[in-house]
Amino acid sequence: MQKVPLSPDSAESYPRSLQAATVAARRGEVVTVGRSITAVSDLAADLSVEWQQHGSCKQADGTLFFPPSNRFEHKPDREAREARAKRICGGCPVREDCLEWALTTREPHGVWGGRSESERKQMILARRKAS
Ligand code: SF4
Repeated sequence: MQKVPLSPDSAESYPRSLQAATVAARRGEVVTVGRSITAVSDLAADLSVEWQQHGSCKQADGTLFFPPSNRFEHKPDREAREARAKRICGGCPVREDCLEWALTTREPHGVWGGRSESERKQMILARRKAS
């Protein structure tokens, strides 16, 4: 069993580690997504890695998409950071794939597909209620 860290701290490592995590998930391994460990073997068959290569955040500052790991982030700072990340997501050609990936894997941290952590939680709850 392999754990693949998904580092939010480096814009350069973000797409590659995300791809590595997805590949590991496809193999049925346990994957560290953000700062939590998620068993995704049952979801692996549906995950695609191709879209990640086209994300607008690949060229952006990766720290915009995740809270800092070494200090508390005050609400105004978080909101400003997330707003900047969401503006990048707004022009991203793979936004829908990204959001679906984050919802499917229950990614608990960061902005994915133009949605924050709390927004995704609401979407997951709404899906559960609708099903
Ligand atoms: S939607 Fe946002 S987080 Fe997802 S790949 Fe595009 S820019 Fe990156």
